[in-house]
Amino acid sequence: MTIDETQQESRAFEADVAKLLNLIVHSVYSDRDVFIRELISNAADACEKLRYEAIANPALLDADPALRITILIDPDGKRLTVEDNGIGMSHDELIEALGTIAHSGTRAFMERIEAAQGGEGATLIGQFGVGFYSAFMVAQQVDVVSRRAGADDAWQWSSDGKGKFSVSPAPVESAPGRGTRVILHLMEDAASYLDRFTLERIVKAQSGHVPVPIAIVDKPGAEPSEVADGAALWAKPKSDISAEDYTDFYRSITGQFDEPALTIHFRAEGRHEYTALAYIPSSRPFDLYDPDRKGRIKLYVKRVFITDDAEILPRYLRFVRGLVDSADLPLNVSREMIQESPIFAAIRRGVTSRVLGDLEKAAENDAESYAKIWTNFGAVLKEGLYEDYERRDALYGLLRFKTTASGESWRSLKDYVASLKENQTAIYYLVGDDMARLEVSPHLEGFRARGVEVLLLADPVDSFWVAAAEFGGKPFKSVTQGAADLALIPVLDDKAAPAPETSEAVNNLIAFVKETLGEAVADVRPSDRLTDSAVCLVASELGPDRQLEKLLASAGRLKTAAKPVLEINPRHDMIVALAALNDDDSGFKQDAAHLLFDEARLLDGDRPTDAKLFSDRLARVLMRSLGGNKD
Ligand code: ADP
Repeated sequence: MTIDETQQESRAFEADVAKLLNLIVHSVYSDRDVFIRELISNAADACEKLRYEAIANPALLDADPALRITILIDPDGKRLTVEDNGIGMSHDELIEALGTIAHSGTRAFMERIEAAQGGEGATLIGQFGVGFYSAFMVAQQVDVVSRRAGADDAWQWSSDGKGKFSVSPAPVESAPGRGTRVILHLMEDAASYLDRFTLERIVKAQSGHVPVPIAIVDKPGAEPSEVADGAALWAKPKSDISAEDYTDFYRSITGQFDEPALTIHFRAEGRHEYTALAYIPSSRPFDLYDPDRKGRIKLYVKRVFITDDAEILPRYLRFVRGLVDSADLPLNVSREMIQESPIFAAIRRGVTSRVLGDLEKAAENDAESYAKIWTNFGAVLKEGLYEDYERRDALYGLLRFKTTASGESWRSLKDYVASLKENQTAIYYLVGDDMARLEVSPHLEGFRARGVEVLLLADPVDSFWVAAAEFGGKPFKSVTQGAADLALIPVLDDKAAPAPETSEAVNNLIAFVKETLGEAVADVRPSDRLTDSAVCLVASELGPDRQLEKLLASAGRLKTAAKPVLEINPRHDMIVALAALNDDDSGFKQDAAHLLFDEARLLDGDRPTDAKLFSDRLARVLMRSLGGNKD
């Protein structure tokens, strides 16, 4: 029987799919093997979905209880078929799943892939969940014949990947009894995938640990031979699992191609019994900063996949990949019930503690690999400092910093408090959005002169945790806020000898600047924290740090910005010279006062308050230094 032509419908791919297909076919060709992994992964997911539905409706599984994936080679017909007896797709599901893209990450994917160089593109496919379409890297036509579990009818989807696909009823007798058959009509240059040994090697390497057995049939009519046993890797004893097995499994569940930076595999026994296998990736997943901040730890109950939406780990550990398999949760637990279950709460606590504990061990025992983990995920871990007070101490132990003393390496808070200076009462920090600018900030001068270490914080999240932080009995204090309290800490170098009392002339100048700037500043005062620069801005003691204030203002969360304090270096040659000017130079001194304020704003990464006035003043002052007179 052939397909009933009258019921055939032809449809166009959604615009995004068409664009994606075009990209996949034309720019992502360097590692084409990934299509096998993608199709097997879909087939395994389909089997796991069926296993889950069969808990409530065992009849779905009964007719053919052994779930499996079969790959058929047809050398003469140049066809490769990946078949599963999983959940299958109905007519509508076929159109929905294989004609549109449901993932919000797709736009990001397309941008990345357009920018990707060479081989990177192929490594992106799996991550972004556009796996099925990768079949068009090797096939000039793809047919999908599918029967939804429990349904009488079967459907065929076909496409050459060039903008359109068709859907029609499939001949019932030749369609799978249940599940999906994906038939690839291979392109000329993809014939190597018809070679049994090539295929077997790829399947074993990429998908050897999917939780469904895989067999290859090397020509039509031949007997299937098993190439992967479908045993759950995580349920095996650790001693039976090689590093390579762990890596292969990591790659098959994440779709990433990197090596895991850390593998955490343990069985909890006692009150609650479960197994966890978790990985810290060695590269950042593309959706790390998506607003939904979703994690990707899968929940299994007695080897049955339940959901990857259970939020087993807190959001600040969303970069951890892997699974938890519980022996105690009921199999028929609904996804909604999970969140209220005390067993689940105990699993969450147990797995979270273990992940943080293993991170701490890595931090202590292997600084070099921990530095890589920190570089990738430190900014995410820091979110825990204000979201998870209970674990703040554990998180403090994981923090690493660039500081004025760190050079190329990283410093911990323990390192910091171990090298406190005499009379130092706080842990000093400077927040900003650009590490290079932080390093040269004038606010650091007085601290450097005294050898007082300052944490340099350039992650956007830093402003939010640091103000309330405390470690080893020492509060954190911004170097751009309040008085610097440095007078009691001796200066290292004799040349920068302790400041003499601010002279009367400088005090008069400061009073003059304050009067001139009026409402624009909260105060003008002599500075302890400057040694080389003439001026800087600081926030007053109360209220937010300047960086936090800028963040709040840009998010529209601040109605009136607090006025900054202008600090003046009483030892700076220019300040001393300005202070020595006669009173009849007041026009010039007024210009100078405004310019000093604008200079401090520029050093903070801001603009002068008024660009036109700034340039007029600058021109007048320059003219005067050139001996001219411009009014
Ligand atoms: P992803 O697997 O990341 O969702 P794909 O493009 O690979 O993205 O697949 C799209 C959808 O097509 C899947 O989510 C699934 O609903 C459906 N699908 C693909 N292959 C199969 C299959 N073998 N059995 C059942 N459904 C499938």
